[in-house]
Amino acid sequence: NGFVELGLVPELIRAVKDLGYTQPTTVQQKVIPMALPASADSAQTNKFIDLMVSSQTGSGKTAAFLLPVLHTLLTQMAEAEAKERSDYEAAVAEAAAKGEPAPKRPKRQDPTNPRNFKAAVPGALIVCPTRELAQQVAHDAIDLVQHCRGLRVANIVGGMPYQLQIAKLQNANLVVATPGRLLDLQRSMQIKLDQVQFLVVDEADRMLDLGFADDLAEINQLTIGRKQTMMFSATFAPRIQQLAARVMRDPQRVTI
Ligand code: AMP
Repeated sequence: NGFVELGLVPELIRAVKDLGYTQPTTVQQKVIPMALPASADSAQTNKFIDLMVSSQTGSGKTAAFLLPVLHTLLTQMAEAEAKERSDYEAAVAEAAAKGEPAPKRPKRQDPTNPRNFKAAVPGALIVCPTRELAQQVAHDAIDLVQHCRGLRVANIVGGMPYQLQIAKLQNANLVVATPGRLLDLQRSMQIKLDQVQFLVVDEADRMLDLGFADDLAEINQLTIGRKQTMMFSATFAPRIQQLAARVMRDPQRVTI
């Protein structure tokens, strides 16, 4: 399976196998290695490069951005969990050395209890021009995380009942959204975007056609501390390049 060579975590390799993908498509072959962090020792500290990719629907572009983003989120979650475990074990050993009772494991809060409501703080954000595309991308993401414990995907689009959307949003690690509803939820403090590390702008040309330039500028500001931006577009027309220059740092171009 050609996905193994790309160095993706086993949970994602299993998912692509289950989906019947035997070989990465051309865009996946090019984008995935470039989108992954430069060295493998720690997903937290590594350098990522910004990418500007020309690609058509049907090329496999969705998995080309979802797989590297999910890979890095999963690697970070595994590192955080390992640290929590070793901190706890160290605390137990220290207590034992002093003859004290073992400390309790840190409790996890029940996220379904409304008293524990917290704004969503996703690590990755995918913005799409239309509700249909956002739903398709979220659907693909859910397929890809089927073997990933604890990684949650949420879809934010206009026209969905507000309460339902908010309930689904809690604890989301990856959010797929159309710009309007995303900014509504941000303004009403249901979602915080300052922990977004990875931003993907899908179908950037349609985004501009539909008048989302100002919304994109706002999303750019709200996620200004992010580590990586990827933009996908059918063309590299001058207006797309201007947008790229505003939202990315030294983007590498990938032409399919
Ligand atoms: P997209 O260009 O992202 O809209 O993807 C087009 C279709 O190709 C989707 O239905 C995907 O499920 C499928 N697909 C994506 N990657 C692969 C792959 N490596 N092998 C086979 N099918 C794929």
